[in-house]
This record gives sequence, structure tokens and C-alpha cells, in this order.
Amino acid sequence: MRAVLLGPPGAGKGTQAARLADHYGIPAISTGDIFRANVAGETELGLTAKSYMDAGELVPDELTNAMVKDRLAQDDARDGFLLDGYPRNSDQAVVLDLMLADLGAALDGAIEITVDFDEVTDRLLGRAQTEGRDDDTEPVIRKRLEVYRTSTAPLTAFYEGRGLLVQVDGMGGVDEVTERIVSAVEHHSSS
Ligand code: AMP
Repeated sequence: MRAVLLGPPGAGKGTQAARLADHYGIPAISTGDIFRANVAGETELGLTAKSYMDAGELVPDELTNAMVKDRLAQDDARDGFLLDGYPRNSDQAVVLDLMLADLGAALDGAIEITVDFDEVTDRLLGRAQTEGRDDDTEPVIRKRLEVYRTSTAPLTAFYEGRGLLVQVDGMGGVDEVTERIVSAVEHHSSS
């Protein structure tokens, strides 16, 4: 399965990506995690990305796309992957299609985890206290939600138009949401 996971920050994408990766035996590829590893390793990419991340803004497409291209070319992603946090805007979505076409592949689905706005805000503020990420302060959370609304949310329509969208209610327990996703994906692929 080659799929992207969509949904606002705080929807539980990271948690679900790890569980789905396990279930399907494919790597979960989180662009946020790769950026954070680069920040921690003080690489050139990390140094550039950090200022955008700390402001809650998107890292420029050129850098992000190149990073994803390298990652998708690795062996473990050859037969499937789950992208978490990419694409984040329509230009990235178009580039992803081109990258996959170059690899002789195509997306099978775009799984969107839907949650309500108040729930997402609570989850993010709660995570700020437990994980202490640099980009989890209240003004940055607001910025990230705004970037999601203006740049990323339009991808729902983009993938719906291509018949790839699978929407799943992300409210409820972690196990419950994983089960919903697995059954929605099965239903989508058999329809
Ligand atoms: P995340 O862990 O997915 O919330 O990502 C954390 C931060 O990394 C985001 O707020 C962005 O600054 C950056 N980032 C992650 N994925 C992307 C992407 N696809 N495009 C641009 N920036 C990204």
C-alpha cells in the first residue's frame, strides 16, 4: 500500500501512522520526524528547517520535496509506504505524483483523519506540556492550524477528485481509530 495520511496537527496522525505501518508491514515516513532528526543532528537542512518549524510555517517546498524524494528511493519504501505530514500543499501533492511516476508507482489512497477544531487545540496544548516540543507554544500552534487550514486542507478536495480519499473519524480511542482506518481502507480498495 502506498498512501498519504492527512489531517490537522493534533489529529493523531503520528500515532496512527506507526500502528498502520506495523499492520501493513510498510515504513511510516514522517517529514516532521526527519526534519527534527536533522535539527538534532545540526545538519545544514536542519539548521535551515528549524527557523520555519519554530515559527509554525512550512519548510520551503524545494527542500522538503528533495528530502522526500531521497527517502522514497530507499529500498524499504519500494513496495509501500505511509507518508505522514507530506504533502502539506497542492504543489507538494503534484510533485509527489511525479516522483512516484518516476519510480513506476502511484498512490493507492489518501487517508484523512477528521477531528473537530476544539479537540485538536486541546490535544496540541496537552502535548505541549508532556512532550515539550519547541513548536508547541500557543502562538505557534495557532499558526500551524492556520497553515493547515489555508495550505493543507484543500488537499482533501484534490484527492477526492481523484477517487483516492478515505475519510475516517479520528475522535475516540487510539485502537478504535486504527480499526476504523483499516476497515475503511479495505472497503475503499474493494469498491
Ligand atoms: P509535524 O511533525 O508533521 O507537525 O511537522 C513539524 C514541522 O515540520 C511543521 O510545522 C513544518 O515546519 C515542518 N514540516 C513537516 N512536514 C512538512 C512538509 N510536508 N512541508 C513543509 N514543512 C513541513
